[in-house]
Amino acid sequence: MSRARATAAFLAAVALLLAGCAQSVDPIERLGRKAADGVRPHGPAGEQAYRHWGLSAPLPAAPRPPSHPLSFRSALPPVVDHIPTADRVVFLTYDDGAEKDPRFVDMVRELRLPVTMFLTDSVVGPGYGHFARLQAVGASVQNHTLDHPAMPGLPYAGQRAEICGQQEKLKSRFGIRPYLFRPPYGTYDTTTLRAAADCGVTAVVLWRAAMTADTLAFRNGEKQLRPGDIVLVGPDEAMGPALRERTARLLRRVQAGGLTVGRLEDYL
Ligand SMILES: [Zn+2]
Repeated sequence: MSRARATAAFLAAVALLLAGCAQSVDPIERLGRKAADGVRPHGPAGEQAYRHWGLSAPLPAAPRPPSHPLSFRSALPPVVDHIPTADRVVFLTYDDGAEKDPRFVDMVRELRLPVTMFLTDSVVGPGYGHFARLQAVGASVQNHTLDHPAMPGLPYAGQRAEICGQQEKLKSRFGIRPYLFRPPYGTYDTTTLRAAADCGVTAVVLWRAAMTADTLAFRNGEKQLRPGDIVLVGPDEAMGPALRERTARLLRRVQAGGLTVGRLEDYL
């Protein structure tokens, strides 16, 4: 063998070895690197992600959202628990901000879940950094009051302080002005709606279905997921399965219903 050939053979062997090393890297890690490099995490690595999170198939891409969000002709913000749409999407929402699992940030990034977080200042406490990381991977952040009181019956000034105060907090923490509001416990009165409107809220968001520790509970109507349903993944409790496990369970239900996950803010 000539010297040149021997060198070529050696280089080929090294290349093979390097390729082997690259393949032995954890697929999720590779996905993370691709995403960090600005490459959309499609392809084999992206397909590994759904298995990693306990799904049997990738989540289908959401259909193109409406070019104009819904418009409501009312003086007070509308109260919605679902979006009237034929698009086969449901919306994943999370309340309070108690659970701050870094693995949940990975899940949102790797599955590219367009989730909405309704945050309460006193619950998040010093943990806003976690939600900034979630926001950086595509989650959106909306208002769930400063201190989580039951709103009905509270005077206007108190309700306004709870809502406007959290608007200001979220604006200073995230550089955004939220426009969706979820009242604590899903309860409100007309004073809540007036105060919300005066704080710049354009829609009050409830939920039609809630993912509890062990089941999907419906507040009204048909007892199965329908296009446009807003789902609360809760509750934020230390007991029971972790948020990411509750989310995986919900995603399996979503897929079984031939649905996928849409971005609420595209529709409201
Ligand atoms: Zn809450």
